[in-house]
Amino acid sequence: MEYRRMGKSGLKLSALSFGSWVTFKNQIEIKQAEQCIGTAYDAGVNFFDNAETYANGESELIMGKALRNLGYSRDSFCVSSKVFFGSRDHPKPTQHGLSRKHVMEACHQALQRLQMDYLDLYFCHRSDPDTPIEETVRAMHDLVQQGKVLYWGTSEWPAENIVAAHSIAHGLYLTPPSMEQPQYNLFVRERVEREYAPLYRDYGLGTTIWSPLASGVLTGKYNRGVPKGSRMELPGYEWLKERLQNEEGRQRVAAVEKLMLIARELGMSMAQLALAWCLKNPHVSTVILGASSVQQLRENLDAMTQVQKLTAEVMSRIAAATA
Ligand code: NDP
Repeated sequence: MEYRRMGKSGLKLSALSFGSWVTFKNQIEIKQAEQCIGTAYDAGVNFFDNAETYANGESELIMGKALRNLGYSRDSFCVSSKVFFGSRDHPKPTQHGLSRKHVMEACHQALQRLQMDYLDLYFCHRSDPDTPIEETVRAMHDLVQQGKVLYWGTSEWPAENIVAAHSIAHGLYLTPPSMEQPQYNLFVRERVEREYAPLYRDYGLGTTIWSPLASGVLTGKYNRGVPKGSRMELPGYEWLKERLQNEEGRQRVAAVEKLMLIARELGMSMAQLALAWCLKNPHVSTVILGASSVQQLRENLDAMTQVQKLTAEVMSRIAAATA
């Protein structure tokens, strides 16, 4: 495993990490969660990603229990949570968003569910137009001061809001955000590659990127329709299937057909090519893997060994296939 600094911070995260969106509770119960977390940990993964909203808090319950059962030393791994969407199906006004009230309470609730004393990483899961950024920065700073959060960051915030958070923190001697969690994969590149470019330079922003396989499309498994038991067949994820069936979805599948030829030539799976491509970007601190089985996870973790095959020539062939 390779370890990368999370931006300019001193925190070293494994270049591949493991997250629980969709999978924990919907597809994976405690026993398989333990197997997946154990497989990842044994491969050197030291960051496990979560959020209050994943399976309405059930995902944090499972992850906390699994980590406790596995008995790893708390200082050998990092865990995150995220605040914004709430942990209930129809949250009341005080139970979601980035107000001081919800940021504080969501942190305490996540710690309870995870059975932990502190979160290593705590993300504002989206921007909140109804809360002044200063209120959120102060709440995050206070959690850091209280030792309940070690690093705070954002997820899918426009660059201008991250800049605003930094200038508020700078002006008021508060803790600024250290990292952002954006989507990044062969199909979604704009934010990580262009919009955030000044932020790496000016603030040393780290990134923990999500959906590196575009929810599985970049494995090639959707090239001939939606396979049984896959994410796009799950109740509640019809929106993903609809996206696959529109014009953009069809273009994506056509690109995967071309990419699969390159992957085959290089002796790796399509998923490994897509993950290795994410790892090539030096502004990516960690690629968060999703997997609904140990078998998928093992294949994905092996992407680490494939990165050196992505030479400049291969990278331009990949760019041509996705243009
Ligand atoms: P991916 O895009 O990698 O999709 C993962 C899914 O693809 C798996 O659950 C599985 O679904 C399928 N898959 C993965 N590997 C393989 C394989 N080798 N062969 C076949 N199918 C495979 O990642 P996620 O979308 O899950 O995102 C990763 C993590 O990022 C999340 O767990 C979460 O922690 C974080 N995240 C953060 C967000 C944010 O807003 N901050 C938003 C979304 C995710 P299946 O088997 O069911 O088909």
